[in-house]
Amino acid sequence: MNDGLNIDLHTHSSCSDGSLSPAELVARAAAAGVQVLALTDHDTVAGLEEAQRAAGERGLQLVPGVEISASWRAQAIHVLGLWIDPVSPPLCASLRAQADLRRARMREMCARLTKLRLPGAELLATVQAVPGVPTRTHLADALVAGGHVDTVDAAFRKYLGKGKRAHVAPAWPAVAVVVGWICAAGGVAAIAHPHRYALSAGARRRLLGDFAAAGGTVLEVVSGGNSAQHIDTCATLAVNFGLQGSVGSDFHSPHAWNPLGRSLKLPECVTPVWRNFGL
Ligand code: AMP
Ligand code: MN
Ligand code: MN
Ligand code: MN
Repeated sequence: MNDGLNIDLHTHSSCSDGSLSPAELVARAAAAGVQVLALTDHDTVAGLEEAQRAAGERGLQLVPGVEISASWRAQAIHVLGLWIDPVSPPLCASLRAQADLRRARMREMCARLTKLRLPGAELLATVQAVPGVPTRTHLADALVAGGHVDTVDAAFRKYLGKGKRAHVAPAWPAVAVVVGWICAAGGVAAIAHPHRYALSAGARRRLLGDFAAAGGTVLEVVSGGNSAQHIDTCATLAVNFGLQGSVGSDFHSPHAWNPLGRSLKLPECVTPVWRNFGL
């Protein structure tokens, strides 16, 4: 626990690729003892109003958040915006552009699946029928539902993972641009799950240098499922780059491995981001 606070600053709802509605997510978090919860859907703030209402009913503090897809030297990087103003007009306009990129990318990935003799048009229609921003998770689900692969994991391994035959890397905006959007919406920017990028230790340090120079102030030091060694490495990076620390499960579904709010203890050497917000 973090000074007695049960806090989870990275979760998803069905407004992106989570399986629970925002209200269901908040109910589950409350039942798990979470006191402070950020909803951080991929490139959308559509779930925040419902989550805020549900949080009010359950006495849980909701942190308005978003997980924005960005790029740094051809690598996709996820930047969390926390304590953002969800109705900030420039942020909302930027997220509409992100959604357009996602829809165009989905059409392209389905075209590639057609070339691989899969029913791309049908798969596209299935994904388009799902409300919210389309993600690779939705396409993986459609591939499973159509009987083309046995599991979501197989869909990523065979078709949708980075470098696989139907993978399309969109031209996401640069990390520095995305940090600017978040700061302009009154939020703080955090690099999500830093251990998950295919970067050398040196490149990781350069990423953090560029991120901090652009106004990024936070590193997600504890992310669902990362090892004690990852946490140590990230804590050292946060201290060395003068970044505050965040903790988040990256919860998507009750059936996945990362439960809400549990085992998310920030090492004491790192200043918690929630200190800025009176927590
Ligand atoms: P996208 O943002 O559309 O590129 O989709 C990325 C999402 O797909 C991530 O946020 C994860 O939730 C999910 N994802 C990525 N890789 C895998 C994988 N190997 N197995 C299952 N889900 C994955
Ligand atoms: Mn996801
Ligand atoms: Mn992510
Ligand atoms: Mn996430």
